Amino acid sequence: MIDIFESTAQARPDAVFFSFVDRAGEETAYTYRQTRLMAAQLARRLRDKGVFPGDMVAVDLPNCPLYVFLALAAAYGGFGLVVLNHRLTDAEKLMRLLELERCGVRIAHRVDAASERRLFDQVSQSLLRGESRTGRVDDSLGGVVEDAIHFAERAAHTFDAGHRALIMFTSGTTGKPKGAELTWRNLVESAEASNRVLSPRTLNRGLWQAVLPFFHVGGFQVLVRSVCSRWSLRLYERFDAGTVLRDATELHATHISVVDKMLQDMLNCRPSVLAQYHCLLLGGGPLNANTVSLALEAKARIYASYGMTETSSQVANTLITPQFTGGLRLLPGYSARIVEPDSAGFGRLALRGPGVFSGYANGRAAFTVDGFFLTGDTAALHEGCLYIRERTADMFVSGGENVYPAEIVDALVRIPGIADAYVFGVPDLRWGRRPAAVVELAPAAPPLSAAIIKDALARRLSRLYIPEQICIVDEMPRTGIGKVDRVACEGLFRQHIDIKRVVL
Ligand code: ATP
Ligand code: MG
Repeated sequence: MIDIFESTAQARPDAVFFSFVDRAGEETAYTYRQTRLMAAQLARRLRDKGVFPGDMVAVDLPNCPLYVFLALAAAYGGFGLVVLNHRLTDAEKLMRLLELERCGVRIAHRVDAASERRLFDQVSQSLLRGESRTGRVDDSLGGVVEDAIHFAERAAHTFDAGHRALIMFTSGTTGKPKGAELTWRNLVESAEASNRVLSPRTLNRGLWQAVLPFFHVGGFQVLVRSVCSRWSLRLYERFDAGTVLRDATELHATHISVVDKMLQDMLNCRPSVLAQYHCLLLGGGPLNANTVSLALEAKARIYASYGMTETSSQVANTLITPQFTGGLRLLPGYSARIVEPDSAGFGRLALRGPGVFSGYANGRAAFTVDGFFLTGDTAALHEGCLYIRERTADMFVSGGENVYPAEIVDALVRIPGIADAYVFGVPDLRWGRRPAAVVELAPAAPPLSAAIIKDALARRLSRLYIPEQICIVDEMPRTGIGKVDRVACEGLFRQHIDIKRVVL
């Protein structure tokens, strides 16, 4: 990674590598030269503080320039980052770090919002004040700058892609988040495989808008993809559809990676702008049929993607066209297997490929003997395309029949006025389990009641699939990255269940 970055920085030092928009709308831009100096100097400074190759530095920050510098500094300095969700409470962060330490991961240093300003100021004062965009160096500071350059050059030669780059936590959708260990090789080869599909050579320039948080693998990989494709990056402290779309027009952004909720916000804001992107990468969860049809109407080039933290983000994607049948093509270098398929070919998905991790920090992960990682998702595989049904654990049995909540969600979001839905099985004395749904209304939706929704569903689904209970909300509880917060949904729902029918 740092070898690629170094060669770009040496070839075009004065080109802008990234710009940043903070929550107040203030903008700063950094050239390759400035970024390189900052990252190398940061790596040296952390070395002085006792951070050595192989060590881990915990990062507890929102997306900001220092995050970019730290990611590159980690590659320059040979250390790894433990990427924390900065929105968690202090107690939750501490628990995660203590748990890693219990598993033998030593945290050599921690960078958080309180220490950020100091560290950033120290490093930037010693460097950026001493160099100008024309590459001339202030004489009084020339020594520091030259040292940083030597450090960077040496690091690029000794860079070891086999080093641990990240401990990244999964989203915690199915339980406690797991710390997945990813090497630089995992990250870079994953980024290169996806660049081959999303960033063809015919596009001679590109600009990624980074709106997903770096503490999520989907966000971090936007940074790695831009380094690998030698493109520039526009970083946002927070997602605001209006700002992002304004920039897309003014700066001719070509790529953006989003989750469904962000795409919905963009479609509600200025749908006409979406057609100008070469690629809107949509992932993090199941496709929402409603969003997809609106995006197609807007002529947006949506690449539906499937992947997870453990695979360094996406392993399969497909450009959605009106002929889309749900199949996502595996990226080059990846193979899939379906374990114990049913008669329709659906079974537990196992994956192998360059982005697939080698384990969790606590050592527990399921692999087959020949190295395929057993995901928790149910899928089928036809002619190199994955058909993802849902998480294996989501299927439940009702009256002796299998019920797939994803099919109910799909029917729900096709009802006009419903933006999103979550369905799960609630214990039931007679049936074993019955589906229950949380339904999010679209802005300016027509009045909808549970009875109207059940009527509309009855035209598409068998009785077994009609949710017994429906909880209608204006806004679905969501996690930090914008995925449906299933635990909160179920909690919210429980208040609406008639307890007489529930066996707990
Ligand atoms: P945890 O592992 O802690 O329960 P998580 O699985 O949600 O949380 P991530 O690694 O962020 O953590 O998410 C990956 C999961 O998201 C996949 O395993 C899959 O269940 C779901 N997912 C991602 N893309 C898709 C997709 N295109 N279709 C269906 N599900 C998807
Ligand atoms: Mg998972």
